[in-house]
Amino acid sequence: MEFDLPDEHRMIRETVRDFCEREIEPIAQEIEDEHRFPAEIFDQLADLDVMGVPIAEAYGGLGGDTLMYALVAEELGRVSGAVGLSYVAHTSLASKPIELFGSEAQKERWLRPLAEGEYVGGWALTEPSSGSDASDMDTTARKEGDEWVLNGTKQFITNASEAGSILVKAVTDSDAGYDGISTFIVDPREDDGFEVTTIWDKMGLNASPTCEISLENVRLPEDRLLGEEGEGWEQTKKTLDGGRISIAALSTGLAQGAYEHAKSYSKEREQFGQLICEFDAVRDTIVDMHRKTERARLLTHRAARTYDRGDPVTRESALAKLDASEAAREVAEDAVQVLGGYGYTTDFAPQRFYRDAKLMEIGEGTSEIQHLVIGRELGL
Ligand SMILES: Cc1cc2nc3c(=O)[nH]c(=O)nc-3n(C[C@H](O)[C@H](O)[C@H](O)COP(=O)(O)OP(=O)(O)OC[C@H]3O[C@@H](n4cnc5c(N)ncnc54)[C@H](O)[C@@H]3O)c2cc1C
Repeated sequence: MEFDLPDEHRMIRETVRDFCEREIEPIAQEIEDEHRFPAEIFDQLADLDVMGVPIAEAYGGLGGDTLMYALVAEELGRVSGAVGLSYVAHTSLASKPIELFGSEAQKERWLRPLAEGEYVGGWALTEPSSGSDASDMDTTARKEGDEWVLNGTKQFITNASEAGSILVKAVTDSDAGYDGISTFIVDPREDDGFEVTTIWDKMGLNASPTCEISLENVRLPEDRLLGEEGEGWEQTKKTLDGGRISIAALSTGLAQGAYEHAKSYSKEREQFGQLICEFDAVRDTIVDMHRKTERARLLTHRAARTYDRGDPVTRESALAKLDASEAAREVAEDAVQVLGGYGYTTDFAPQRFYRDAKLMEIGEGTSEIQHLVIGRELGL
């Protein structure tokens, strides 16, 4: 726990923790097994006024900072990686860019319902043939009169099957490289030519839909262009600077949840006539789980505070994401081990944390890409 959190932040954290333990934790395994997006949970999160934590009150948000938002993401991750993933994709990827880059009219039309939790949002960068090398995309938007016409396929898009809006990246000038990419606001419920073609079965996080989407001659009015034409790549970099902090926070939550399960089990389970936490090996494992979780939290909070000061944050957010996602996977694996055979069953949560944690090392830039980013920031 951090020692210098403002009272307001502590209050939000307590409120969300209480909600998570009461409403989400009891169904976390069930929604995973059923591959069910828990819309009712998102309605309740909207009632708690946390679907737009870092969005200005003027647009229906809570007007909190990134640190407050990170605390909420951590609490969700502590009980359900899937709810946490859909939540952070909605906030950092689908909502925040509209606040940062949108016109007043776009904020009123598209940001407000997201921030008020009327529906969740999505963000579509990745394609079947371009992931880490994301700017090498094939999706195009060509101007026809006063309309944009989008064509292409986007891959692994969180929330797409549930979303009320999706920010889609497309090439508007194939000769302009990074400056030839733009962002469009697509309405999946109304825009003809939009289709969810696949909802993937995954090794974890199955209550968070991960979709392939097809855009076939999707015609959009001019006011669906987010910001200026050609700004899409710069927007993407800024969006990921913030998004990686939320993946770090979610990872910290997964690590915290896994650690707590292992610790409490070790204080109940007896072998050879003693509690297993009294074996040096088990105690040391749990101490290391705690150490890694605390380190991940500190790096995450440092990145969030850097973002909130308005300072450059690329290095801090990549460092936090790299460290916290690794911590989550390692701590969750240790939790399975501490629970022994029971840890391998779906009656106990650690296996779910372990499966969920793996994605954190892949999404919003793999660990290898975080090394590239940090290396560049260090001048290497
Ligand atoms: C559950 C889930 C949710 C997702 N949600 C979204 C979403 O909402 N929106 C969205 O746009 N995308 C989303 N993604 C996509 C995700 O961001 C990509 O999967 C990720 O960026 C990796 O891209 P890729 O899968 O194409 O892997 P690839 O880029 O093909 O990478 C394969 C391997 O090669 C390595 N590699 C690639 N390039 C380099 C390099 N230069 N140096 C060293 N190693 C390298 C990678 O690290 C990786 O190990 C999601 C993915 C998943 C699984």
